[in-house]
Formats: sequence, structure tokens, C-alpha cells
Amino acid sequence: MSGVDYKVVVGLEIHVHLCTGTKMFCGCGLEYGAVANSRVCPVCLGMPGVLPVMNKRAVEFAVLVGLALNCEIAGHTKWDRKNYYYPDLPKNYQISQYDLPLGSNGYIEIAAGDVGTKKIRIIRVHLEEDAGKNLHTAGNYSQVDLNRAGTPLLEIVTEPDMNSAAQVRALAEELRRVVRYLGVSQADMQKGHMRFEPNVNLTISRDGREYKTPIAEIKNLNSFRALERSVEYEVGRQLDEFLETGRVMEMGNKSTRGWNDGKEITVLQREKEEAHDYRYFPEPDLVPVEMNDEWLTDIKSRLCELPLAKQQRYVREYGLSDYDAGVLTAERATAEFFEEVVKAGGEAKRVCNLLTQKGLKLANEKGCSVAELGVEAKALGELAKMVEGGDVSATASMTIFEEMVKTGKGAAVLAEELDLVQKSDAGELERIVDEVLAENERAVQDVRAGGKKSGKARGFLLGQVMQKTKGQANPKVVSEILDKRLG
Ligand code: ZN
Ligand code: MN
Repeated sequence: MSGVDYKVVVGLEIHVHLCTGTKMFCGCGLEYGAVANSRVCPVCLGMPGVLPVMNKRAVEFAVLVGLALNCEIAGHTKWDRKNYYYPDLPKNYQISQYDLPLGSNGYIEIAAGDVGTKKIRIIRVHLEEDAGKNLHTAGNYSQVDLNRAGTPLLEIVTEPDMNSAAQVRALAEELRRVVRYLGVSQADMQKGHMRFEPNVNLTISRDGREYKTPIAEIKNLNSFRALERSVEYEVGRQLDEFLETGRVMEMGNKSTRGWNDGKEITVLQREKEEAHDYRYFPEPDLVPVEMNDEWLTDIKSRLCELPLAKQQRYVREYGLSDYDAGVLTAERATAEFFEEVVKAGGEAKRVCNLLTQKGLKLANEKGCSVAELGVEAKALGELAKMVEGGDVSATASMTIFEEMVKTGKGAAVLAEELDLVQKSDAGELERIVDEVLAENERAVQDVRAGGKKSGKARGFLLGQVMQKTKGQANPKVVSEILDKRLG
């Protein structure tokens, strides 16, 4: 492959279910896993003569996401019919937004490894309704469940600004974090709340010339792993195809491909000879949406600090590692509880350790957030202070935290009860250190001689003191005494 250099180019289309409680144009409830066709009415069944009514909350959620993605919000939008025929679409058209999306020309920042962050431009954010679901589990025929038909669906389309499968995944994960922070979607992948369609092609340089491979759109991916792996696969496939056939992008040779999760390959579905004609036209049964300043201001007031900004602030303000900051900001409830504990006087790194090494595990076991473990921010702050002050060891603090959750007792009480208070009394510790030094002359000599064995011998002596105190000596204090004694 000498002389061949290539760049990956990916744009992404994302569909997100909004958790509005009821459907986009009727009052049917949104309930995952309900008995098939039990959450339907004449409107979402597409009966003749019925009239859709817009769900105001869905519009507000969509605008909120648009604002979070730095989009221009349209003052005037309308609804359009996108016509096509499929068994899961009883009306034979989907109500969507064609030429006037709610949001446009935005961007989102994503973590991009060594480069820090990267801006991905957002072309548009619009609202539409989801279709039902065809089921192929009954044997020789198919069934359709229309419970999902009419679910508010947010469509987000990016510019082809991503240059690796990892960036595509980072964008998808960042979007999930954003919609969850805003409280507009549970974004539960298992329930199909997010679906991805990447557009992939390559720009190849060979012998001083540039070639673009035909774009492939991979349809309907519903996990981050499938998204990342399918883009990786497609990159390899397109490179091979180009080297074999020299085929390049022309008008109309864009194709759609499916992802075979078992074989981990993309499979050709169809070559688009020409663009699909959906015969879009304005929806005559719905009035346009006028967004006035008052309404927009009200929606703006519901924005919160966004996850990536929060993560970066934790690194800057609290000196946490990017990894730790990422764990703490994965869920808004975790981040907010962390901040409360820090406000209550807990030193940030100590609080972070308590939450990431113990709290999240306990919360996960209980199926709740760390804020719901039954330990007040103030109480956890006290525990963090005890670690910081050397009253209990970091290891002991994890045990105490667990007992706080179990018993509801305070940190200081539990430290006493469980006999986990560290000995920091210099007088008593000096006596124990002297005992240990007297019992281990050889190690003392090694430390004093300096050289290779010195560090190991010192560690041994410290270990002996810890053993004598059943691990309750404050290692910092012991270390200071050792330094004093051994010079
Ligand atoms: Zn309905
Ligand atoms: Mn769509």
C-alpha cells in the first residue's frame, strides 16, 4: 500500500426518543414494554378524519437540545408530511420538519484524545414522530406493534466532521450525556432510545492525487459498540474496494448498508440510483409553531451547565484527573452530589475517591444514584474531612462509608465503633517505632547505609509499625518519626 494515504470522513444522523410522557400528536402514553397495541388511539393508528394536536413539551425539549447544541432557534417553523409506505407507518406518512427545522447551524464539543476537544458542527435539529415496530417472531408471517408509533423523536444531523470511529463514538456518547443532563430523554440504549446512522467515506491520496470513495450510510445502529465497530469495518472495506477497483464517488452512487452484529460486517442494502422522493408537503392539519421571545427565554432558563464543561471545570478547579472528572460527570445526579459534598467542606480529591471507589458501586447495587444512598452531603463531607485530617485511613473510610449507608450513623461515631480511628499521637507512636527499630537492627543498618537496599528496608520498618498498631497508625506521622530517628 505504498504511496496511499487516507482520511476518514464521517457525518452522523442521530434519532433520540424524548421522554415527554405522552406521544407527539396524541395523548397516548409512552410506555416501553407495554402489551402490543395497547397504547394506541385513532390518531396514532392513522384513522381517517382524526386531527393531530402538537405536544408542547416535545417542542420545548427539542428547543432545549437545540440551545445546548448552540443552534439558531427558528422563530417560525412548521410541520411537513414525509410520504412513504411501510407496514409500521399506518398513516403512510410521517409528520416531520423539512425545510424549517427547529434548530440549525450549531456545534457540539467532544473529547478528542490527544487533541483535547473538537468541535463538530450540527446542521440541524428537528422534531418528528417515530413509526411502529414490525415483529418477525411469529413464524411464517410478520406482526406490527404500534405502541411506538407517534413517539416524539428528535433528529440531529452533523456535518461530516469526524475523522475516526473513536470520534464518532465520542460524539454519540457526549450527545447521550447532554440529553440526559437536560432531562429530555432517558437515552436508554437497551430500549432503543437512541439510534445512529453514520455516513462514511474516505479521502484517499495516491501519487499526488486525491480520490473520494462512494459514501455508505449504515442504517439503524442502536449501540455505541455497533456504531464504532461498523465505522471501523466500513473504513477497511472502502479502502480495500478502492485499491481493487479504483471506484470513486459519483453522483448517485451513495449506498445504504446494514450492520450484521454477529459477523461484525456491513452488508449492502441498496444502491441509491437517485434520491428518494418523499414528496414532502406542509402538514395541513397542524398550525405552524411560533417561538416568541418570552417562550424562548423560559426554555433557556431550564439549561444547565453541560457535562463536558463540567468535566473540564472539575479538572481546572479541583485538580482532578480527566478520567475521574469524566466518571463524576457521567450522570448529572452524581456530579451534583459531588459538588454538594465539596461545598459541605469535603476536600475534592477525597470526595471523588469516596464516590468513585465506593459510592457508585453501592448505588449501582441498590439501583439508585449516589444522592439517594441515604447519606447526606454534609455527613459524607465529614468523612472526607476525617481522611484529610489523618483521623482515618483512606482504606478505613471506604468501610465507614459502607456502614454509613447501612446504619445511617455518622462518620465519627462509626470510626470509634469500628475501631478505625488512626493513631496520630506522636508520643505513643514514637514508643512503638523505637520498639520496631530495636527489633530490626539489620534493616536499620540497611537504611542508614543508604544505597540500593535502603528504600526497601525503610518500607519494611514502616510496615512493621503498621502491623504492631493493627494498621491504625497514621502512616504520615510514622514516616516523620522514622525520618527523625534514622536521619
Ligand atoms: Zn395515540
Ligand atoms: Mn428521521
